[in-house]
Amino acid sequence: MIQLFLPLNFLGFVYREIRRALTDLENMLGLLNRKAAISDDKDAKPLKATKAAIRFENVSFSYDKQRPILNNLSFEVTSGSKVAIVGASGAGKSTLSRLLYRFYDVDAGKIYIDEQAINTVTLESLRQAIAIVPQDTVLFNTSIRENIAYGNPTASENEIDKAISLAHLDGFIASLDKGDKTLVGERGLKVSGGEKQRIAIARAILKGSPILLFDEATSALDSHSEQAILSAMREVAQRHTSLVIAHRLSTITDADKIIVMKQGQVVEQGQHHQLLAANGEYARMWQLQQSEE
Ligand code: ADP
Ligand code: MG
Repeated sequence: MIQLFLPLNFLGFVYREIRRALTDLENMLGLLNRKAAISDDKDAKPLKATKAAIRFENVSFSYDKQRPILNNLSFEVTSGSKVAIVGASGAGKSTLSRLLYRFYDVDAGKIYIDEQAINTVTLESLRQAIAIVPQDTVLFNTSIRENIAYGNPTASENEIDKAISLAHLDGFIASLDKGDKTLVGERGLKVSGGEKQRIAIARAILKGSPILLFDEATSALDSHSEQAILSAMREVAQRHTSLVIAHRLSTITDADKIIVMKQGQVVEQGQHHQLLAANGEYARMWQLQQSEE
């Protein structure tokens, strides 16, 4: 009996494994299908992003064709400027960044970088031109230095050192016994949220892209670590065109332009003082956040 049971049990195991593998394969094919939808035009050219000016022109988008997420949205980010995007959670801010990176294609309208529509350039060149600092950064189970170098596998040691210093990580690294060889990630040193975000900034610097995109990069931090990240961000932003999606308005009052989104549309834009004077949506959000703090 036992002799019969064991092989059957084993067969059950094999069956489950095969089924799991098929599910994985299906998921993978699903991803491939999604990718097939976003692919290079047959005569796609490499993007030339020398000025790195961005323009959204009458962009509409929905994930599922049922519920419109972005609705005829237009705005411009001039070369080298810092533009902030604010608005309630769910307004469509991260969706904007996903469209710029071409995780999805727009349903209507166009997105341009230096007057080249992003659907006419190669995906590789587009994504090379944009470095993203997300809200939650994933660290790999390897050294701090390797985690940073991941931003650009061909970077020189010198370039890595420079990125470390620009991201204000040198003090932290110097405080560690093993310096930048210290292992991080789940199995390594527990780094704070602020340190993690500075690693993400160093990665982005190292990538060397002309466009920097911060998507609520400091939202998960307390205000002390936020200040440290903001000063690193400001320094880096000076050399780039930057888009800063922000929750706390106090972090973006210095932006060249603030775009206020509501339900997938731009409802206001201007500089901090102009928007306060206009006494509209931004001023309302500002007062609300001031009273919370
Ligand atoms: P924000 O960044 O401003 O908080 P998002 O751009 O992430 O907002 O989301 C805008 C809207 O799109 C939300 O209502 C959200 O639920 C919806 N959404 C986001 N991602 C997806 C997705 N992958 N599929 C379907 N709906 C999504
Ligand atoms: Mg978001």
